[in-house]
Amino acid sequence: MALIVHKYGGTSMGSTERIRSVAQRVAKWVRAGHQLVVVPSAMSGETNRLLGLAKELMPNPSAPEALRELDAVAATGEQVSVGLLALALQAQGVPAVSYGGWQVPVQTDSAYTKARIASIDDARIRADLACGKVVVITGFQGIDALGNVTTLGRGGSDTSAVAVAAALKADECLIYTDVDGVYTTDPRIVPEARRLASISFEEMLEMASLGSKVLQIRSVEFAGKYRVPTRVLSSFTPWDIPIEDEAQSGTLITFEEDEKMEQAVVSGIAFNRDEAKISVIGVPDRPGIAFQIIGPVAAANIDIDVIIQNVSHDGRTDFSFTVHRNDYQRAMGVLESQVLPATGAARVIGDAKICKVSIVGIGMRSHVGVASTMFRTLSEEGINIQMITTSEIKTSVVIDEKYMELAVRALHKAFDLDASAVAAE
Ligand code: ADP
Ligand code: ASP
Ligand code: MG
Repeated sequence: MALIVHKYGGTSMGSTERIRSVAQRVAKWVRAGHQLVVVPSAMSGETNRLLGLAKELMPNPSAPEALRELDAVAATGEQVSVGLLALALQAQGVPAVSYGGWQVPVQTDSAYTKARIASIDDARIRADLACGKVVVITGFQGIDALGNVTTLGRGGSDTSAVAVAAALKADECLIYTDVDGVYTTDPRIVPEARRLASISFEEMLEMASLGSKVLQIRSVEFAGKYRVPTRVLSSFTPWDIPIEDEAQSGTLITFEEDEKMEQAVVSGIAFNRDEAKISVIGVPDRPGIAFQIIGPVAAANIDIDVIIQNVSHDGRTDFSFTVHRNDYQRAMGVLESQVLPATGAARVIGDAKICKVSIVGIGMRSHVGVASTMFRTLSEEGINIQMITTSEIKTSVVIDEKYMELAVRALHKAFDLDASAVAAE
């Protein structure tokens, strides 16, 4: 008997028919003798719908008291899902009980809309499991120290599931979704993308942080910190396939160091359309200027990603950086009202039509020339690189958003990631 956590995403929970299929799959695992905790997301489209309603009433909420209410609204999607799934399980003759994050409780900080899990009380879950029940827990939501409902950021049900698995020291966390694993890049953009049977934790972390939405980054951080055996697999296989086959399917996140020897130099390509670029033009080039620009932006609680400062001409320079698109208007406001007057810079220009494309692979550590292959490939496609940033296992470029698909496809081919390239070997 093993203790297994299943997570089902929005598409997997998308209709009562889909929920019934999830219940049948879970029942199969229970009948095979396992203890099951299931963490579902809201039904597909539901979180968007709820946030859309809120937006009609307050277009740009940013005050903490408004974000609190946004979380109160958004968290209801998962509340519906757990109840429906528990009903579907009971209808199959499987004892099941559902809990909201506040009932477990899943304790978080008070950073509404992007709260972090602090602890999960396992007492109630363990008591129910001991009674032979399947425990169904809301993804995405928690409760802060003052008893307010919080949410963990978009895609946060992945994090809920892995955190629950870590708290319970579960034998495995299975993330069921609408693709059959982690691919070399998003298969919706590149149909030739190839499923990876396994991916190292470090690569998965980079892929997630650089925009691959198949797993929320914090779920990968939890998996790494607590060494939770985590697998991404499809909920769209027939529910009654043999458990042994299902348990081996999809993509396993691995933690072993030595696996990298055999690996390709570049394992995957990620892209992110959620950022915007801001340039401060004609900044006096003197010590402390980067701090004078970035300081007020950071003080407004806006995260900054790629930064570039050009060489100066006549004592003036241009300074560019990227922020999340949700923070774009706010960042522009801070720069115009505070930074321009304080620094004497000429002007601020913004561009929300950019994207970041990244190549990722632990093999890059020991191979030179990887970045140059990337730059050559993009130049052959006539794509202008606006910004570059590198680390040991990734290189990212910021380009015009309209070239995103072209860039991803060209790079996928250039680094021999297409399924046909592997089949031909
Ligand atoms: P869920 O609702 O199950 O959480 P998501 O939509 O959050 O599902 O994540 C699954 C989606 O992630 C896939 O449908 C796919 O389009 C996208 N995706 C992005 N990058 C990758 C990748 N490298 N491998 C697989 N899927 C990816
Ligand atoms: N329902 C939430 C969202 O749409 C959480 C999740 O699906 O993981 O972002
Ligand atoms: Mg998701």
